[in-house]
Amino acid sequence: MKEMCEVIPSNKGGDKINVHGFLMTKESCRNHIYYWCCDQRKSEDKSCLGHAITYLYNNTHYLQKASEHNHAPELYKAEVAKVKNQIKKQAKETRDKPIKIVQDNVINTLEEFRPYLSSLNTLRKTINHVRQVESSPQPQSIVELNMPESL
Ligand SMILES: [Zn+2]
Repeated sequence: MKEMCEVIPSNKGGDKINVHGFLMTKESCRNHIYYWCCDQRKSEDKSCLGHAITYLYNNTHYLQKASEHNHAPELYKAEVAKVKNQIKKQAKETRDKPIKIVQDNVINTLEEFRPYLSSLNTLRKTINHVRQVESSPQPQSIVELNMPESL
């Protein structure tokens, strides 16, 4: 199999890959061989045992083996994760207003996936959060914390 798998970066560092619409979490890797399990494995109602094996070459995961799942693929999940990452990226790299960032990204999202996106308010909070983390300067010394009030 020479099929490439799309990687969905996660802010928690645990990247996932998209295998035929199933999101897979990395389980282990040995040399260039990566073992993935379904991200629904620990879900209460499904506990899916679906797994996949990829071969990493030139920063690209090539699918070697993919098993069956006990549920339907959830294409929207990868899409929603991508949109969220893009929104965060834009929040960091631009000074655009949150509403503009959200609009830009919703327009670029296929209509069928839009219902799965977070609400405007939630996305706005995400943007504000990203920017607070980025821009809050740490005080350099105790002196800066106790600036005398100029009267
Ligand atoms: Zn599964």
